[in-house]
Amino acid sequence: MVFYPPPWVPQLPIDPPDSIPIYEFMRDGKYGRRPFSKSRNPFTCGLTGRTFTHKEFFHRTESLAKAIAKRMGWTPAEGTPWDKVVGVFSLNSIDYIPATYAVHRVSGIASLANASYSPPELAHQLRSSAVKVLFTCTALLDTALKACAEVGIPKDRVFILPMTDDKKAVPFLSVEDLISEGEKLPELPPLKWVKGQGERQPAFLCYSSGTSGLPKAVMISHRNVIANILQHVTHESYGRKKYGIETQVELGLLPMSHIYSLVVISHTATWRGDEVVVLPKFEFESYLAAIQRFRIEQLLIVPPIIVRMLQSYDICAKYDLSSVRFVFSGAAPLGQETITNLLSHYPKWKVAQGYGMTETAVVVCCSSEHDVMHRSSGSLLPGFRAKLMDPEGKEITELDKPGELLVQSPSIVLGYLNNEAATSETFIYDEDGRWLRTGDEVLITLSPAGNEHLVIVDRIKELIKVKGHQVAPAELEAHILTHPTVADCAVIQTPDERAGEVPKAFVVRAPEWKGKPEKEVAEAVFKHVAGAKPSYKWIKGGVEFVDEIPKSPTGKILRRLLRDREREKRRKE
Ligand code: AMP
Repeated sequence: MVFYPPPWVPQLPIDPPDSIPIYEFMRDGKYGRRPFSKSRNPFTCGLTGRTFTHKEFFHRTESLAKAIAKRMGWTPAEGTPWDKVVGVFSLNSIDYIPATYAVHRVSGIASLANASYSPPELAHQLRSSAVKVLFTCTALLDTALKACAEVGIPKDRVFILPMTDDKKAVPFLSVEDLISEGEKLPELPPLKWVKGQGERQPAFLCYSSGTSGLPKAVMISHRNVIANILQHVTHESYGRKKYGIETQVELGLLPMSHIYSLVVISHTATWRGDEVVVLPKFEFESYLAAIQRFRIEQLLIVPPIIVRMLQSYDICAKYDLSSVRFVFSGAAPLGQETITNLLSHYPKWKVAQGYGMTETAVVVCCSSEHDVMHRSSGSLLPGFRAKLMDPEGKEITELDKPGELLVQSPSIVLGYLNNEAATSETFIYDEDGRWLRTGDEVLITLSPAGNEHLVIVDRIKELIKVKGHQVAPAELEAHILTHPTVADCAVIQTPDERAGEVPKAFVVRAPEWKGKPEKEVAEAVFKHVAGAKPSYKWIKGGVEFVDEIPKSPTGKILRRLLRDREREKRRKE
């Protein structure tokens, strides 16, 4: 049985255009964006208040594109997009999106890297997406240079996105230098795309481990992003109209390299004329100070930030947060108890959840302001179709019965770069067309207003989400196995109040280490991970020693079994 958005959800006003780059959709009024004259400035720095009008924003993008094109010898019409892949490895900045649009202006692809990456992790991304040029920031420069040296990107192809708190001058050109250079250069020829090019050509590569294995480059087309902007704005328009909301100020705190921030905050918000107050990274008091100073009305955050607010309410109480009206939480489950606690402090706030993933670029469903049901992630966006499958592969036809969620939408991405096996496992075909297997266990239930809502029940796929960041168990297992004390291991998630989830390792000790104290081995394994991986990947859920790792006859780790065992153990504690 196929599920559709509820009847109140308006139809998409236009078919998502398939032959234009994202920046054209964001810039030109003919596709329906709010006119610049009625919009707020798109991005404002939350530390300094520095901001640009829309006109300045697009002027900067164009100048930046001219400078990159000249330096690299690129033109919009020549070469394939794969010859023009540019990496962005940076904390959030008001120049982040212009840097990516400049890449698109020359018909290239932007590969966005998590700012917490270590040099080997970044090198893996630069190598696997064949990055030719890198934008970074001074705070991350050391890591960036180590990774560039490893993959052979010369230093004159590394450019800096300036940050307000840059302490030292570095001998690298910044985006400002490139913009000044570009302003003196002749116009670039227009970007002329053939029909369907925006549907086929990746705009972004974002990394996700999908349903299993190591992080993979997800190919997100221009049309995928355009579609999700239209879908989300259309879904929200009903509630916004009902409450008379024209434009508002929103928080741009989540990392722009992640699909949630990239699409929902940096695109959807600015397309409808809202202003995004950009913070480079999460720092509790600067987050609260920015809400107070810029009178932020909508918080777009992840559950661990809400948990932090509750744990440190005494600090929150020092700030005037009365401008906040709406809290949108996504990327991980938000517990009902947490919502209740938050509302006890801020009874006027509306709290709603959205659900999505990198492979759906991004929002699948979300709560409209007029139809919030706290345990759910809201209703399907227009243009989405959904099915639920039971473990035997049979379609579920009843409400309130969980199964794996499969979805169709013009925002479903192209697939994984150079990974046919993972692509065909995740993007499957049946008589109704191409479906994405989400790897999430979901049920559909009726809200008090009688609309079908999606409730995310569990995660079937092998993925751990720590503070909204993805951690692939397979990556940690491969690393832990290189430690001399370990004969075999498996990694699963375990709940954590602050982070939502943290990794926990089950370890079979190597024979020569069996007699040693467990504590000593556990510490050695913890340090082995901590020495090589960013802190969100550390095995903070602990190390448990077992005699053997449960596996299927084909050698696949039965993580579900370990997770059920872990749940049972915690229930008894
Ligand atoms: P990512 O690709 O990093 O955005 O991760 C996507 C995954 O995050 C989904 O497949 C879910 O497992 C999880 N997720 C996202 N939003 C929610 C939500 N509202 N509730 C529960 N899990 C979520």
